[in-house]
This record gives sequence, structure tokens and C-alpha cells, in this order.
Amino acid sequence: MAEKRDYYEVLGVEKSASLDEIKKAYRKLAIKYHPDRNPGDKAAEEKFKEATEAYEVLSDDKKRPLYDQYGFAGVDGAAGGAQYSHAFHDFSDLFGGMGGGFGDIFENIFGGGFSSSQRSSDGHAQGATLRYDLEISFKAAVFGTKAEIRFTHNEVCETCHGTGGAVGSSRKTCPSCQGTGQIRRSSGFFAMQQTCPTCRGTGTIIDKPCSVCHGSGVQEKNKMMTLTIPAGVDNGKRIDIPHQGDAGQNGGPAGDLIVVIHVAEDRFFERSGQDLYCAVPITMAQASLGAEITIPLLDDKRVSVKVPAGTSNGKLLRIKGEGVPYTGTSRRGDLYVKIVVQVPSRLSAQQKALLEQYLALENPTTSPALIPLESLSR
Ligand code: ZN
Repeated sequence: MAEKRDYYEVLGVEKSASLDEIKKAYRKLAIKYHPDRNPGDKAAEEKFKEATEAYEVLSDDKKRPLYDQYGFAGVDGAAGGAQYSHAFHDFSDLFGGMGGGFGDIFENIFGGGFSSSQRSSDGHAQGATLRYDLEISFKAAVFGTKAEIRFTHNEVCETCHGTGGAVGSSRKTCPSCQGTGQIRRSSGFFAMQQTCPTCRGTGTIIDKPCSVCHGSGVQEKNKMMTLTIPAGVDNGKRIDIPHQGDAGQNGGPAGDLIVVIHVAEDRFFERSGQDLYCAVPITMAQASLGAEITIPLLDDKRVSVKVPAGTSNGKLLRIKGEGVPYTGTSRRGDLYVKIVVQVPSRLSAQQKALLEQYLALENPTTSPALIPLESLSR
């Protein structure tokens, strides 16, 4: 067996490293080498084990001074395989308070096994947070709408009121975990602490389970709700509906329902922030002489647009206050109308004669100078 590497070297930190530095260093290694991320990779598993052992000792204010003074001999037996599970308990601590985004990674890597961290010692557990993806039309997102959603969630069992027990039943110590609520499962080098599946972490089981919910204390129910979607919501907006997720277990609070809004595309309008964009055709003569046109808006109202004389192709005209409402206010963004100058491809004899007459008057040069690209608006 290879010689053991120094714990500080394993984590890549100085001997003087603070607890925070040690946690950060370990977190990095744990993410990189976690067995869930490197299935079947023995080298990664070995590194993960090594880092966990080092962290186990260096994060402990009793073991660290012993290690500093006596080396491995000082902590011998304290950092054996059976102890690794202790480090797992600290993961929530390791990953908590690290700022946004970390929760997701934590979830990804360590999976559902950590739901036990939300469970208190008497088995109260918060119900799962549910996600509902709701697609609404572009117009509905701009002006707001009422949307009916149907989903399935767990509710507290009406028969046993969430206790999971039939009338006259009692609780006894769970035979799988002897009442601890946790079982230890070994996979390779690791002993992973896990919520006991028999009693779901409560440490007790019911001798006569409720016949309706089979002891779970919750029942699956179809639910229908009408949501008010405010005007101005954008794609990806999340609406949090408290306590409409799954019911909690053993009296724990229900999770939330998170509705994620997906806005469909529109054929004629697009959106950037609170501004709307659309495009409208005008003729060469209108572009040159100027014109007053009316265009249909998203809500089928029409708005009058003044096209100034000499408007070039691609020009954006702004119509104030016809954009997307700022949610919860009466203010709105603007509407930008892109002018598309259309050149006629078929001319009547009279149109052709007039244009030839116009061309003679215009008398353009037949060898124009190039336009500097930077002067083009894009
Ligand atoms: Zn029940």
C-alpha cells in the first residue's frame, strides 16, 4: 500500500489554513471526485476517500492539533473508514451559506439521500416542492391572464389525519434501524448514512397502518387551481405558491408549488425587456414623401404611426408606452416599428413611365463612391 500523504497536502492548503479554507478546499475535491460523478473510477474514489479523511481530521478542532503534533499516530483510529459518515453529516454545513447556486450542485451531486437533513429528530419532514411548467401565449404574458392548472400532489390523508395509523394502532420501534431513523449502507470504501427506508427516518413504525394511505399519512390528490398571471411576466418567471406542493410527513409543513412560465413566440411581435418590436412594410414613395399609417397592436387595437419624409429602409420608429407593462405598475415600455421599404417588382406602364421621368430628373451618378461601413446603422 502506498504511503499516506500529508492531510494538508491532500487538501492543498497551508498548515496555517483557516477552517473556512479547509472547507473550501475539501468542497472542491469532493465535487470533483465524488463517486456519483465518477462511477466505476477507482482512482477518483481513492482521491475522494483521501480528501474526506483529511477533511474529517483537519475540520475537527480536537483532532487537528493532535495531527499537527503527532502526525497520523495522533489521530489513528479516529479517521478510519467507519468514521467517514461523520463527514457526510457536515455536508449541509459545508455547502450551506456558500451563496446562491450551490444548492443545485449539492442536489445534483449528492442526490436525494440528503433529504434527511430536512427531517427533524421526531420525523417531521417538509413535503416536496413541486414544479409546474405553464405555457402561455405571448399576448397573455404582455397583458396578463387567468390560467387553469391541474396537477397531482400529496395531501394529508383524510382517514388517519396524517398519522399513518389505523384506529387503535400504536407505534413501535422500527426493526430496521432500531429507532435511530438512519441506516448505514456500504458502497466500496464508503459507509453512507441514509434515511431508513422502513420508517422513513422516524425511528418508529405503525403496527396497523391506515388502510387508505398504507401508513404514509399522505394521499395522492388531483388538484385544480386558477392562477392570475400578472401583465408583463417574461419567459422563465417563477411564481411560488406556498404550501401547494406535497404535504409534509408526520405533521411537517407542506412544500411549495413553483410555477415556471414559458411564453410562446408570436408571429409578429418580439420582446426585449419591456419593449416590443414589430415590422411594417411601406412603399418607396411613402418612404420618400412621408406617410401616416396605422398598424395593428397585439391586443387588436390600432395605432397611428407617422413615417417622416425620407425614412430609410430598416429605420426603427418608436411609439411610446405601447410596450410591455412593468408588472404591478401602469408604466409600459415602448413599441419599436421597423420600417421595411418595399421596392415594386412589377410596374404598370404608367408607373414605369413616371419612374423613368423621375430617374431622368434625379440623374444619379453611375460611378458612386463606396459607403464607409461604420456610417451604416446596424
Ligand atoms: Zn391514512
